Amino acid sequence: MFDNLTQRLSRVVKTMRGEARLTESNTQDMLREVRMALLEADVALPVVRDFVARVKEKALGQEVAGSLNPGQALVGVVHKELTSLMGADLGDGASELSLATQPPAVVLMAGLQGAGKTTTTGKLAKWLAEGNHTHHGRKSGKKKVLVVSADVYRPAAIEQLRTVAEQAKVDFLPSDASQKPQDIAAAALDHARRHHYDVLMVDTAGRLGIDEAMMQEIRSLHDLLKPIETLFVVDAMQGQDAVNVAKAFGEALPLTGVVLTKLDGDSRGGAALSVRHVTGKPLKFVGVSEKLDGLEPFHPERMAQRVLGMGDIVSLVEQAQKNIDIAEAQKLATRIKSGNKFDLNDFRDQLQQVKKMGDMGSLLEKLPAQFAQAAGQLQGGQAEKQLRRTEGILNSMTPAERAKPELLKASRKRRIAAGSGVPVQEVNRMLSQFEQMQGMMKQMKKGGMAKMMRAMGG
Ligand code: GDP
Repeated sequence: MFDNLTQRLSRVVKTMRGEARLTESNTQDMLREVRMALLEADVALPVVRDFVARVKEKALGQEVAGSLNPGQALVGVVHKELTSLMGADLGDGASELSLATQPPAVVLMAGLQGAGKTTTTGKLAKWLAEGNHTHHGRKSGKKKVLVVSADVYRPAAIEQLRTVAEQAKVDFLPSDASQKPQDIAAAALDHARRHHYDVLMVDTAGRLGIDEAMMQEIRSLHDLLKPIETLFVVDAMQGQDAVNVAKAFGEALPLTGVVLTKLDGDSRGGAALSVRHVTGKPLKFVGVSEKLDGLEPFHPERMAQRVLGMGDIVSLVEQAQKNIDIAEAQKLATRIKSGNKFDLNDFRDQLQQVKKMGDMGSLLEKLPAQFAQAAGQLQGGQAEKQLRRTEGILNSMTPAERAKPELLKASRKRRIAAGSGVPVQEVNRMLSQFEQMQGMMKQMKKGGMAKMMRAMGG
């Protein structure tokens, strides 16, 4: 996401770094570039105008004029303005969602068909059930979550939510297409109260476009459920349209926030930059993959950093911490240190750890632009494919073979290659990579880091 915008803005920033002083003319040039970059990213015109005017005012004002390095000061101004454009940061005093209410806290999901409502319902339910929600900067614990679908128009919709709920490991309340949406909602609220759920998430029917009947229905659901959060789900790839639909919904329904989905497919990023300004509603979450863990709380400041090519290290570390099984990692480290042989079983455990860190694409996205470019050959999708192939090879071996790789003679290799659907050469390649790694592990045991670096040719 934001590929072009990031490239263009970093170019502007680089040029400005070379300037000793800010002058009327180099400031004009810089602002023109920023304006073009934003328009190309499909940011709404009024938003662009406003943004450029504010940067100009600050750039020519106190904040930059007296500074030793105007280039750097300018980056600061652009970063700050981008942050405030996307909404003030939550800070430590706030929570991602307001759930502090007499339980169940009801979350009503609204949006057009295909926006990603049902998927997002599952993602959010999982996120809450796993205890990822934070309040005053602290995790607020695992929530007991119930989901229900009030979409009686698309028979498949209820089934889809059932599947998603199963994957998310949260409770699903069955409903059926002969019921009235209002009756489903009332029954769900009653059920959630009686069974002491912390959160009730209600997925609703979407239409292809905005229509009055749909608006009336969701308004009546809103009156009945009195949700603490009413989230509008919208597809980022629709660019400015997404923002306009969000605005129309916001006028008809008291939204508390927006979820922008499919940011992974949106290389321009205009919607993410405009939605706050145009709707006045905070962007609370972004969807970054089809998978149920592809949801991130939205942090304007971190996103501004990403847009400027400065990377989002904070989120990267958080993602790693969230997914890595610390106990597993330590067990492995102890095994290696204790002088046990590092075998293919350990290798497989290690791969699984890497896989758990999350989708490679979304990890690479968060690296600063320079690194991400260096890793450019390693496109997210490819890295994941390679990981899956290696895992396939390892899974085609017996535990005994993994414990004693020297058992792997030609006939066994052929069997493994056939079992995992790769050529024999690939099995050999993996084994020689593994041997190198084993060598490194040995060095680590014997002589610590310094020796290992030498072994690696460093
Ligand atoms: P609904 O009609 O609003 O309930 O939309 P769905 O939840 O059925 O989603 C529509 C399609 O978008 C599905 O194929 C989802 O897998 C896909 N989708 C939803 N969110 C994301 C996302 O963040 N990234 C990607 N790549 N796909 C998504």
